[in-house]
Amino acid sequence: MSSPSNPPPAEGPPNRPLSALRRWLTSGAAFSSSTRDALLDALFDGAGDGLLVCNADGVVVSCNPVAARLLHVEAATVVGRPVSEFIHQGTTSRRAKLHNGPALARGEPSAAHRLLLHLTPFESSRGPQVVVRLRDGSEQAEVQERLRQMANYDSLTGLPNRALFRDRLSQAMARANRSGRAMALMFLDLDRFKVVNDDLGHEIGDRLLQHVTRALTECLRGGDSLSRDTDMAHTLSRLGGDEFTVIVENIGTAEDAANVARRMLEALNEPFLVDEEEIVISASIGISMYPTDDVDLDTLIRHTDMAMYRSKSLGRGTYSFFSDDLTAAVTARVSLEGSLRRAIERQEFELHYQPKADLRTGQVTGVEALLRWHRPGHGLMPPDRFVSVLEDTGLILPVGAWVIRAACEQLAAWDRMGLPSMRLAVNLSARQFRHLYLASLIEDSLRQNEIDARRLEIELTESLLMEDNESTRAMLEGFRRMGVRLAIDDFGTGHSSLSYIQRFSIDTLKIDRSFVQSLPDDEEGAAICSAVIALGRSMRMCVVAEGVETPEQARLLRDLGCDEMQGYWLGRPMPGSEFAGWFVNHKKTRGRRRSRSRYTDTSPMTLFSLLDGS
Ligand code: C2E
Ligand code: CA
Ligand code: CA
Repeated sequence: MSSPSNPPPAEGPPNRPLSALRRWLTSGAAFSSSTRDALLDALFDGAGDGLLVCNADGVVVSCNPVAARLLHVEAATVVGRPVSEFIHQGTTSRRAKLHNGPALARGEPSAAHRLLLHLTPFESSRGPQVVVRLRDGSEQAEVQERLRQMANYDSLTGLPNRALFRDRLSQAMARANRSGRAMALMFLDLDRFKVVNDDLGHEIGDRLLQHVTRALTECLRGGDSLSRDTDMAHTLSRLGGDEFTVIVENIGTAEDAANVARRMLEALNEPFLVDEEEIVISASIGISMYPTDDVDLDTLIRHTDMAMYRSKSLGRGTYSFFSDDLTAAVTARVSLEGSLRRAIERQEFELHYQPKADLRTGQVTGVEALLRWHRPGHGLMPPDRFVSVLEDTGLILPVGAWVIRAACEQLAAWDRMGLPSMRLAVNLSARQFRHLYLASLIEDSLRQNEIDARRLEIELTESLLMEDNESTRAMLEGFRRMGVRLAIDDFGTGHSSLSYIQRFSIDTLKIDRSFVQSLPDDEEGAAICSAVIALGRSMRMCVVAEGVETPEQARLLRDLGCDEMQGYWLGRPMPGSEFAGWFVNHKKTRGRRRSRSRYTDTSPMTLFSLLDGS
């Protein structure tokens, strides 16, 4: 059966292209011998390898285009000539196994590059023949080399990668065991590399890593000639990101290892010039010694990692050795994590509230909710001891949600008691911003407790705003639309930048207490405070001084134009149940002191009344 749209194949294949041939083949036509010849021709010509067919005398019968290219000749000039003209006698290709083509038994191409030969004899209608397959040996070797590189080396820096590092480490450990000579393993992690990446872009970040690699390589190489131990050997690897490792073999003592670490830190101390950006970085290093720290490979790596984190927590830019008390610290941390997990269901968390007041009038403007944990057997734990663990483990999400709900409920309770309308400030971690439910959680808590959104203030850190990713921005804009106020906590300690203050229309700046604490005598502290206050004023933000502990500090801040204060002098954080009592007392003192303003009493309210001029 035939139809005009689907004609039966004509006898013999269409000439070319190959797609037509394929179509023709799949149409199910039976092969005639001429068809098969044509098919073979097409396969022969289209093959990716070089192919030559020779007869038993070694004369070339056919040559495909790839073979001609590999031999640097025209295909037509090869046919009819002895193959030995093109492929000289020489080293045998191991693959060449020839039974009936003696002239081809061994061969080396005349061309400069190495060719791999593979010979296959076959019986043709014209007698025994041989197919010679040619492959560019150098190309293959190159591919193999490239694959080896990719599997073992980091493409950005050319350093050994994690896989090769482990390999080298296990060899170094074996050598140390045999020779009895100590080896040091070091982990080096750049400090705040993420900030560089986020601020200046990944391209600059990558280039910085290349600069760092060069600096470290030079430093390690240069150190060899200086060191007494001339056979000290270093292997620098990059595990990924900004994590580097150094294996130092044949090291004398831990002091030698410390020397190497110090040299590396110094080498990174110089600012790097990347694309006209001067970048200043530092690094944290962890060191463990082997076989002194007698462990297996994975434990040695873990110990070194722990030592590196110790350096980070010591304030970065330094090195630390692994020691047994680090294991103890890690064990303690694991147990802390476990107790924190149970703390939620056991309702061991509590909120304390610390008041804020207007520096001119003494009027209480609001409270900040601060988390406390009644850890069984440990008493009341301050958040500095556990908030970072909550963040690392993700437990900050349920705990943070509880904080918002509980604080809103407390505020509503005070409203019902008839306390004047105050603002409520809640601290949020960056981690909480990665969860979209945060906005709806806040909205629900406000609605359920009938609290106007403008009374809620969220305290954020500068680092969160610096992240400036899509979800953070969307969430902050959502808060703005709701009317929730935004405050920057610990202002001045982070990466202060005016652009984000403007972009997110921040309402409040909280001057970090480290600046306030140096007042009133420290001129630099005063200069910083007055700069922050001026900045706040110029952008119509409320400026709150944290950690005000003395009347002198309050007076100076007031004179500098600061709006509000918070600190032990006004009131310590206290349980919600005590706040109403504190408030009433505060108001009473304030009233009484106003009428006896001449007393040189230095309680907050006396000061206010004096400042009021009443
Ligand atoms: P922060 O937000 O800067 O909170 C102020 C801290 O300063 C509080 O410590 C407070 O007790 C303390 N402080 C207040 N006045 C004075 C003073 O006059 N002198 C001194 N020396 N210290 C004063 P606290 O409660 O230990 O909180 C520490 C940090 O923990 C907070 O710093 C905040 O970053 C974090 N935090 C507290 N509660 C929460 C929370 O619910 N969620 C999150 N994510 N973080 C929280
Ligand atoms: Ca705060
Ligand atoms: Ca603060």
